[in-house]
Amino acid sequence: MRCPFCGNVDTQVKDSRPAEDHVAIRRRRFCPACGGRFTTYERVQLRDLVVVKSSGKREDFDRAKLERSIRIAMQKRPIEPERIDQMISGIVRRLESLGETDIPSRTIGEIVMETLARIDTVAYVRFASVYKNFQAAGDFDKFVSELRPHTGESE
Ligand SMILES: [Zn+2]
Repeated sequence: MRCPFCGNVDTQVKDSRPAEDHVAIRRRRFCPACGGRFTTYERVQLRDLVVVKSSGKREDFDRAKLERSIRIAMQKRPIEPERIDQMISGIVRRLESLGETDIPSRTIGEIVMETLARIDTVAYVRFASVYKNFQAAGDFDKFVSELRPHTGESE
């Protein structure tokens, strides 16, 4: 796993433990080159999903991107990080169980809104206002793809 700080590929696993009620394995990693520490998650992937954007462009589904947009909506909300992870896993399982490999980005947005609506009204309103405005501008995909990368990415 490449170090997100310095790019060194030779990083070490310091600790592995089950997470999200044994749905994932959480690994603490250490980079001997720069001393950086980061976390990765290992999860079952039932299906390789492809996101079909409103422009018709296709790209591999990226859980990390979905997670970034949800974490932005959840910022400073009193929700446990573990709960957010479970929620994201739930969304991914729903996407995988749609039975299709190709998923319109619109469907993903709607499932996220539905899920947020049940968990946190403020996060729902934030996500929905961003999503709906960008739907109007046809620009939600751009918003999601331009979110800044963060560390602690899983592969
Ligand atoms: Zn490093």
